[in-house]
Amino acid sequence: MVRGKKTKFVFVTGGVVSSLGKGLAASSMGALLENRGLEVTHLKLDPYINVDPGTMSPFQHGEVYVTDDGAETDLDLGHYERFNSAKMTKKNNYTTGRIYQAVINKERRGEYLGKTVQVIPHITDEIKAVIREAADGADIVIVEVGGTVGDIESLPFLEAIRQMKYDVGADNVVYVHLTLVPYIAAAGELKTKPTQHSVKELREIGIQPDVLLARSDREISREMKDKIALFCNVDPSAVFTARDVSSIYEVPLALHKEGLDDKLAELLNIWSRAPRLERWENIVEKVTRPRLGDVRIGVAGKYVELVESYKSLNEALVHGGIANDCKVRLEFIDAQKLEEGDLSSLDKVDGILVPGGFGIRGTEGKILAVRHAREKRIPFFGICLGLQMATIEYGRNVLGLERANSLEFDESTPHPVVTLMEAQRGVADKGGTMRLGTYACRLEKGTKARELYGQELIQERHRHRFEFNNAYRGKYEAGGMVVAGTNPELGLAEMIELPNHPYFVGCQFHPEFKSKPFRPHPLFAGFVKAAMAFRDARAREVGAEVTKLPVGKGA
Ligand code: GLN
Repeated sequence: MVRGKKTKFVFVTGGVVSSLGKGLAASSMGALLENRGLEVTHLKLDPYINVDPGTMSPFQHGEVYVTDDGAETDLDLGHYERFNSAKMTKKNNYTTGRIYQAVINKERRGEYLGKTVQVIPHITDEIKAVIREAADGADIVIVEVGGTVGDIESLPFLEAIRQMKYDVGADNVVYVHLTLVPYIAAAGELKTKPTQHSVKELREIGIQPDVLLARSDREISREMKDKIALFCNVDPSAVFTARDVSSIYEVPLALHKEGLDDKLAELLNIWSRAPRLERWENIVEKVTRPRLGDVRIGVAGKYVELVESYKSLNEALVHGGIANDCKVRLEFIDAQKLEEGDLSSLDKVDGILVPGGFGIRGTEGKILAVRHAREKRIPFFGICLGLQMATIEYGRNVLGLERANSLEFDESTPHPVVTLMEAQRGVADKGGTMRLGTYACRLEKGTKARELYGQELIQERHRHRFEFNNAYRGKYEAGGMVVAGTNPELGLAEMIELPNHPYFVGCQFHPEFKSKPFRPHPLFAGFVKAAMAFRDARAREVGAEVTKLPVGKGA
């Protein structure tokens, strides 16, 4: 920690129900404080026993967000990085499992010799240590406790943050509690009872919230805020409406309007300037009122995954829209439906994206989607598994490599054009053993990738076990596919493209993890641009009547 600098702690808990948007609230507080000139960082504490979310199905957990240093983390870290400039690492996300693992390892090493190892103080001390470590000299660390107050499993985390106030001084700690104030149509009014109960539970374990964020679909009146304040023992000026907004990028602005950041600064006793929020206003303007119409991007995958687990991908597409002043509409295309022979959904979109994924289900449908995009010259973007699908499709349908496949899906394929990485052979443990985190990639001159990135050497994040099989590289290159990017140390193919196609790009890495609203990722910006050109060309083709549609606007 920087000497003389005192880190302040903002603890964020949630009550009533899950999925209230605690991660977005935490990110937005971070954005407001950062825009007041403060150095902010984040920590997410997750109450489950898995050491990290990497081994959980996306249906259980949603997206697994990958950091530069290769940690597989909670998707809220994605929000933190998109909203703020702090770099997330493995120090910024801990689970109960990881905390216990550390304590048990210490016990085995004899570090607690003679003692009975207990939740209080040993687990709570470990939690407090990781909170301090995550703070890492920042002015403010925003610590989000996963789960909902009242869950048995989050108790040790709540106990640790309760103790922190006494460890670092009341001036340096703020407890923010996010609750729900539902509108009950039958009664025609908003109800505060669930909030009262949730705060009561928090107070029972010794935490008195300083700030209440009341999530609601409508404005909460001054009167009602006063009532909440009275029943929850909170200052009336510290009850804020966290109102539903149309874009997540509006949340910081909405909370600022309510006066949240002023209150936090006051409670933490920090002097700072008013936030500069023009760039947030610009983003919201671009997202809500784009000038150049909209494009439809079809994302082909397993249905439940599409809905649950592509947070960063969806946001990166929104950013691609921001870069082009155009709204991106996502169409989820169920790959298994494509397998049943109905490809009509692919003709309703202006661009086709095959995202990352695991397991064989839906893969043949994804390959059909790639073929359609290639043959019909629809802009195509393949990410990780999407690149692998594209090389399989090209192998089978252009290069005549019969039954070409990935070893992940067909161990007896005569043409394993996607193969297990050398370093992966013999890996038995499933947790944290993929090729993870940031690796370099060198881009070839004259490729679309090089043109979009505008530089030769790029750094992108990975999460996969399989790769393009270099034994086939010569054949693919002779057959018209360009390997546009290669890992300089290992020679692995990282990017492919088809030069005689408007936009046919695949990458083995996950560019979506690095895209931000203020810095849209070049591959997404390029893809959306190509989709807009496709949209306009199609509108022109079908004649004057159709060009009057809003989709043709601004061409
Ligand atoms: N299942 C593939 C692999 O492990 C792709 C992974 C991914 O898309 N993230 O290589």
